[in-house]
Amino acid sequence: MDTLTTPGPNNLDAYWMPFTANRDFKANAEFISRAEGLYYFTSGGHRLLDAIAGLWCVNVGHGHPRIVEAIQKQAARLDFASSFGLGHPLVFEYANRLTSIAPEGMNRVFFTNSGSEAADTALKIALAYHHARGEGQRQRIVGRQRGYHGVGFGGLSAAGMGPHKKQFGMLLPGTVHLPHTHDPAKNAFSRGQPPHGAELADALEQMIATYDASTIAAVIVEPVAGSTGVLVPPVGYLERLRELCTRHGILLIFDEVVTGFGRLGHAFAADRFSVKPDLLMVAKGMTNGAVPMGGVIASDRIYDAITSKAAPGTVELSHGYTYSGHPLAAAAGLAALDVYVSEGIFERAAGLEPHWEQCAHSLKGLPGVVDIRNLGLLAGIELGENAAVGKTLAKKVYEICFERGVLIRPVANTIVLSPPLTIGKDEVETIYATIAAALRAN
Ligand code: PLP
Repeated sequence: MDTLTTPGPNNLDAYWMPFTANRDFKANAEFISRAEGLYYFTSGGHRLLDAIAGLWCVNVGHGHPRIVEAIQKQAARLDFASSFGLGHPLVFEYANRLTSIAPEGMNRVFFTNSGSEAADTALKIALAYHHARGEGQRQRIVGRQRGYHGVGFGGLSAAGMGPHKKQFGMLLPGTVHLPHTHDPAKNAFSRGQPPHGAELADALEQMIATYDASTIAAVIVEPVAGSTGVLVPPVGYLERLRELCTRHGILLIFDEVVTGFGRLGHAFAADRFSVKPDLLMVAKGMTNGAVPMGGVIASDRIYDAITSKAAPGTVELSHGYTYSGHPLAAAAGLAALDVYVSEGIFERAAGLEPHWEQCAHSLKGLPGVVDIRNLGLLAGIELGENAAVGKTLAKKVYEICFERGVLIRPVANTIVLSPPLTIGKDEVETIYATIAAALRAN
């Protein structure tokens, strides 16, 4: 195949790329060849300001020396140890450190290798919890329209993005979906949490009326929906969901794969909103994206219910991955957490939020902009008077920004932004000035 216009691998056929238009990419490939701090460098000679933190994960920028060193040292000391009936010290240390920043009473961590595995793990823990308590009939999972929980069968079933499902049949039976919270007619251009829509949580009551609470295991939501365009929860919405779940014995799962580790100016969205879930999923920023890792942080109540029912000497939860708690991931996780805490990264993000918000909303009134949403260092810029027009426009804006040295992410008709939390005010201004110029150029 002679499709390369830039230096790189000489055959692109074998690699089946994920969530990618393979033929388009390979026909005009440009590779990310190096990264440093806030920047990527490409084989086509571009220096790109990374306005999406890799893929919502590189929270302290690329190649942080303390994380790099921790991984290198650990690779030389212990490359792999099974966690099935064995263990290595570092992962215990990491679990302790991680739970020390988790909401109170959430002191148990089950490690996975990705957000998708965290979703499936959280759903299985929810089912096992009800099973242990003699309520094994609670099997129904409640997700939400426009939710994204990765691509495993469980997470995909609970997610609410039709295009991701259409190739894969029926998925998990008994999964139902709350309405999404995006209401531009009432909330367009809200700064931070939109004022209208807390009552959308009451759809859970209708589900309870339809199916009975005794058949519902868990509700799983992203506190702020990321991949479907940065949908910020309306004021009071998460509180209402929490209250309904508690009242009806339904577990509340927060998917904090995007919102965890400082994205909203706190360790977790649970802290930002003062709403505590029963299970909290993490991944991405956990290791600053440097080594794959995910996890589910569980309340003591859930851990105790499951473990106390198992006979002594037996496996309490029949679940786990070869690489659960992998030594390199644990080393990266510990180092990332050290950086987050010692460099005050969460507070730094909180301090930058007003400037971020100001710059994001400066795009209001530019050609094609129909909504702007933001919270923490997240923003969604929705484009186009309809979805098709917006999608085309978002792709064009992406291409122009790429040419001009800023990496953004078009998701359907929305540009999503989630920069490293170490970004400075000047770079924030560069991101929005470049997007503004791209919108004007259309
Ligand atoms: N959950 C959320 C909210 C995500 O945004 C993602 C990925 O973007 C996932 C889960 C899946 O994570 P992974 O791609 O690591 O499986």
